[in-house]
Amino acid sequence: MATLIDGSALAKSWNQAIAAEVRTMPRPPGLAVVLVGQDPASQVYVKRKGQVAHRLGFHHLQIDLPETASLDEIVATVRRLNDDPTIDGILVQLPLPGGLDGRLVTEHIDPAKDVDGLTTANVGALAQGRPRLVPCTPAGVMRLLASVDVRTEGAEAVVIGRSNLFGRPMAMLLEQANATVTIAHSRTRDLATVVRRAEIVIAAVGRPRMVGADWVREGAVVIDVGMNRLADGTLCGDVDFDAVEPRVRAITPVPGGVGPTTIAMLMANTLQAARA
Ligand code: NAP
Repeated sequence: MATLIDGSALAKSWNQAIAAEVRTMPRPPGLAVVLVGQDPASQVYVKRKGQVAHRLGFHHLQIDLPETASLDEIVATVRRLNDDPTIDGILVQLPLPGGLDGRLVTEHIDPAKDVDGLTTANVGALAQGRPRLVPCTPAGVMRLLASVDVRTEGAEAVVIGRSNLFGRPMAMLLEQANATVTIAHSRTRDLATVVRRAEIVIAAVGRPRMVGADWVREGAVVIDVGMNRLADGTLCGDVDFDAVEPRVRAITPVPGGVGPTTIAMLMANTLQAARA
């Protein structure tokens, strides 16, 4: 039977360690989250981040801007936070409403405060193998792999999905941990054969239960990043958990796998920024 990688429990212990460190600091790490508009999903994510920040003893600001805010107004808010000495981490919740380009805003965040790791400066540093602030979800996945003693050195890894938010930085982290990495995407030919090669499978596509049992090699470690809301309101991943679980060495559930670790890594990044 596969080991269940319990992201909720791991995130809780990482958060406890962060809170203990915060208590020793002369001033708490400061996290500012900018929310533009009233998208219900974004509101939930921002609220959760605020709750965790508060619980860990961070100084936390939520800045709500109206849906009608212009790019210039959002950038002016970011600049003000760049200059605020009580703020160590700035996050602009994406996507922005009204088709505003999130990348244009993100670029204005001081790279030293870019706790989502999305500025060109931080992406470039990661690409050159000297990571500074690394995107939260892939950083969390590296810790999930470590939690079950996965040996990345020399391992065949397949990352399905090549987004800037997840797939690309994930592949870079695995390569820097000496895995042999394949990035698969919607144009990959014979995806099942590609995935079957892998000792480490990481799925971040956004297609419910796409990865079936016959795609996965015996004894693989499977990390399911997908979060898909089904018609009945339940959440499921990109991996057909019930079919895949009996074949593999370790696997993350959805929910309760990767999801909770993302916020914990946001707190870890903010702490890192505060100590820099
Ligand atoms: P995204 O930007 O939509 O990227 C999806 C990727 O999947 C793209 O690279 C796309 O390929 C690829 N893809 C689409 N259909 C495919 C197919 N049939 N076969 C192979 N590849 C295919 O999504 P994302 O932001 O990376 O997120 C992916 C999933 O992870 C979503 O479910 C999201 O909710 C979840 N997620 C969860 C967390 C968390 O904290 N748990 C964080 C981030 C994301 P092309 O590039 O060729 O279009």
